[in-house]
Amino acid sequence: MSELAAMPEDWTKALAIVAHPDDMEYGAAAAVARWTRAGREVAYLMVSRGEAGIDTMSPEACAPVRDAEQRASAAVVGVTSVEFLDHPDGVIEAGVPLRRDLAAAIRRHRPELVITLNRRDHFMPGNWNSADHRAVGESVLDAVNDAGNRWIFPDQVAEGLEPWGGVRWVALAASPEATHAVDVTDSIELGVASLLEHRAYITALTDEDPETYARDLLTGFAAGVGERFGTQYATTFELINF
Ligand SMILES: [Zn+2]
Repeated sequence: MSELAAMPEDWTKALAIVAHPDDMEYGAAAAVARWTRAGREVAYLMVSRGEAGIDTMSPEACAPVRDAEQRASAAVVGVTSVEFLDHPDGVIEAGVPLRRDLAAAIRRHRPELVITLNRRDHFMPGNWNSADHRAVGESVLDAVNDAGNRWIFPDQVAEGLEPWGGVRWVALAASPEATHAVDVTDSIELGVASLLEHRAYITALTDEDPETYARDLLTGFAAGVGERFGTQYATTFELINF
């Protein structure tokens, strides 16, 4: 396995763009907690409300539950700005309409760092990543370029949204081709608490006690990465430079 470099921390503002409520909470949220505690600003943008994520709940009933759980989960790690684009959960399409929405958000938030989830075919050899994660990851990378070009989606510029070419990196969490890591030894408990806020989702997912599930899963991942990175706990990102 290749060596992991430390994630850059010379930035002040990040925007995390993911397909679903809970996508940030399976590892990245502990890094977010570390960053917000150090005075950095992180905002969340969810492409869907995760309304197709609970087998026993209809999308209509599920959407407001997952919306509320995501806001509570974000608050635990110091994130107060949580927005939803309402693309349809499960059938999110990569392409120009999504890039348009994402470019508008990037132009509005003006982040230096954009965070998203693994867009590759798998998280580990032998499994298959979801269509939504692949679609959103690809569109996020494209939208970062779009946001800086005034001739792409010029209607947004005409309406007063200035182009934003200030994104320096996109960091993809949980990628099988991770290049960087963050020491989350001091913030792993906030990461666990953040995942635990997705209680309706976790309860439907497993018969295990939710707290045991969240702690075992996150500390298990983070201890493995920590071993590679030289800290007790750590979480990884694949970093793309812009
Ligand atoms: Zn997801």
